[in-house]
Amino acid sequence: MSESNWRDQELSYEQVLDKHNGDISKFTVLKIDVTRRGYVYSEEAAKVIDPNKHHVEPNDFLGSTKTTNSSPFPIGLVMRDGTTICSEPGLSTIVRQRDPYVIELIDNKLYITDQGRVYEEVEIWERPDFYDKVTSNGTPMWQIASARPQRITIAPGTKCHFWDKPGNGCKFCALFSGHRCDEGEFRDEKYFQDVTETVAEALKQKGRYASFHMTSGSTLSGREIFDDEVELYIKTLKAAGKAIHSDKFPTKLVASAFSKRQLERMRDETGMTGYVTDLEVLNKDLFGWICPGKTEFIGYDEWKKRLYDAVDVFGRGQVNCGIVAGVETAQPYGFADEDKALEIVLKEANEIAKHGVTFSECVWTTLPKSYFSKQKTPSLDYYVRLALGLAEARRRNGIQENIDDYRRCGNHPNTDLARIEKW
Ligand code: SF4
Repeated sequence: MSESNWRDQELSYEQVLDKHNGDISKFTVLKIDVTRRGYVYSEEAAKVIDPNKHHVEPNDFLGSTKTTNSSPFPIGLVMRDGTTICSEPGLSTIVRQRDPYVIELIDNKLYITDQGRVYEEVEIWERPDFYDKVTSNGTPMWQIASARPQRITIAPGTKCHFWDKPGNGCKFCALFSGHRCDEGEFRDEKYFQDVTETVAEALKQKGRYASFHMTSGSTLSGREIFDDEVELYIKTLKAAGKAIHSDKFPTKLVASAFSKRQLERMRDETGMTGYVTDLEVLNKDLFGWICPGKTEFIGYDEWKKRLYDAVDVFGRGQVNCGIVAGVETAQPYGFADEDKALEIVLKEANEIAKHGVTFSECVWTTLPKSYFSKQKTPSLDYYVRLALGLAEARRRNGIQENIDDYRRCGNHPNTDLARIEKW
C-alpha cells in the first residue's frame, strides 16, 4: 500500500519540470516517474490489450517476477517521441510506496494519467513477428528470444550462481529469481540451431531491430572464474552471427566482470561490439553490503579495473557500467540524505568516466522476491539530478553513447539524454 501523504513529501512531476526548466526532456522525466511509481491499466484501457497484437510475454523470459495478476500485461510502452518505458507487470499495488500512474482510454487512444490529469499518449509495444513462429526443431521462437521495439534479446543462461550461497545475490535483484537454486543447465547444439533460426526470422521484420542484446546470470565455474559463462556466450553469439552475416554487429552483452583474457577471446571469436558489466552501486562500502557475491568473488576495485580493461579491448563508448540508480539510498546502510548520495555517487561516476566507461542507469524499483522489496526508493527529483549528472560525466569525458541509447536499448534515462547531443 502507498503511504497516504507521500505527495506532500516530494516534488511532483510538474514541480520537477519547473525546477529543471528545460534541462531535461519532459518525456524522460515522465518515463522515470512512471518507472519509479509503476502504472496500472484502467478497466477500459485493459480491454484494449490484445496478446495477438501487443507484446505480452508468455513466460518469465529473464526468470523475473511473475505476479499473481492473471490478466496479460504488456512488457512496455512507447511515447510519441520514441521514448520507451519498460514494464514490470502488476507491481504497483504490491510493493510501491507511491500511487501508480493510470493508463486510461480516451477517444480510443491510451494516455498516461495521474489523479485525472492527462499527460502523454502511449502505445503498447508491438508483438514481434517471430513470436508466432516455430524452429525446425519444433521450439516456439518466443522461448528463444524476446524483443523490445529496437532490439532482440537472448538469455542463454537463466540462473545466477551468486545465489548458490544463500543471501549472496544482489539485494535489489529479482532477475532469475525463479531459477536461483536450480541445478545446472544444459545448452546443446539444438539450442544453438534454434538461436540461429530465431534471429534469422526476427531480422525478416525490416527496420525494427538496431541491436542484439544478450544477458544471463553469473556462472562462476570454469578453469578461471566465469570461463563457462564466456564459453556459453561465445557459442550463442556465433549462432546468432550465422543469421546476421557480418563479422561484427551491434551488440550489447550484459555479463559478469570478465578478465582481459576472456574479453579478448570474446572480441576475437565473435561479432560482439559492446560490453556492459554492472557495479550496480557506485560506492565501495555499499557494494559490499548490496552485492555480497560480487564482493566475495571479484570485489569492487577489481570489478572497476575490469571495466577499464574492457575499454582497452572494445574501445571508448563501447563499454558501460550498469547501475541501479537510487539503490545507494537503501536503508539502513545507504545514504539517508539525497544531496549527500548524489555528491558521492557522481564523484565516483566522474572518476570512472575518465577511463572511457559510461553508464547504463536503471531506475531502482523495489521488486517482489528481492531482499529490498520493502525499501523506499528516492524522490523523482533525485533520479532526475542523477540522470543529468551521469549524462554530464559522459559528455565531459568526450564519450559517445554507442550501445545503450534510446535507439538500441531504451531503458536508461541518462542514455536517453544522448539523443540530442551534437558531435
Ligand atoms: S549478478 Fe546480481 S544483479 Fe545480476 S543476476 Fe546475479 S544477483 Fe541479480
